[in-house]
Amino acid sequence: MGRLTRTSKKRAGKSPFVANRGVLFLDEVPEFSRDVLESLRQPLEDGTINVNRAAGSVTYPARVLLVTACNPCPCGFLGDPVEQCRCTEHALERYRRKLSGPILDRIDLHVAVPRLKPEELVSLDEARGETSESVRARVVNARTLQQDRWRELGYGCNAELPERVLRRNLGMEADVRPFLTQTLKGLRLSGRGFSRVLRVARTIADLEGAEKIAVPHVAESLSYRKGEALNDAWR
Ligand SMILES: [Zn+2]
Repeated sequence: MGRLTRTSKKRAGKSPFVANRGVLFLDEVPEFSRDVLESLRQPLEDGTINVNRAAGSVTYPARVLLVTACNPCPCGFLGDPVEQCRCTEHALERYRRKLSGPILDRIDLHVAVPRLKPEELVSLDEARGETSESVRARVVNARTLQQDRWRELGYGCNAELPERVLRRNLGMEADVRPFLTQTLKGLRLSGRGFSRVLRVARTIADLEGAEKIAVPHVAESLSYRKGEALNDAWR
């Protein structure tokens, strides 16, 4: 069943809660079996996992930050500006089918990372871009904002908000709803996907220290759902 099972077995002796509040990184995610990926649905949605055996069932806390990585195709060069993809149509189709819609639907941020050109590699220097320290400070501020906002309702951050609480409590500028109505007409987003777009938009607003979600926050959040558009194009 792949690395996930081996890791679980190795760590089970220490504590059944070792994955809770941790980072679960699945490299080369299409290499995992469909069963393993499907079994992630419940923990990603509820933050818990049920283990059912003949003697009974147990529910463990399993809230993880899931990070996955994959190539655009088996040879790795699909869409590359320099190298030609050598995969057959059949191989591409099989690879694409492995990333099922429901799993992509539960991943908030889909980011394509194209290969750097030689001149970009050479011109990289440490003085450019935001430092990790300043990113960390912004993240700590946003987390504090979220903890203060949701404390009364019993949640610690935007990602933990269940659907019913989410829709009523987000705080949006007046023009966000018309923008969403218009934009969503052209997208095939599930209800769950839409909720995730809203949670991410709330977090983007928090990172800026904005009290209400504005149109640019929602537009940025939607731009991270590229995997869905990609998945549509693959079908
Ligand atoms: Zn290829």
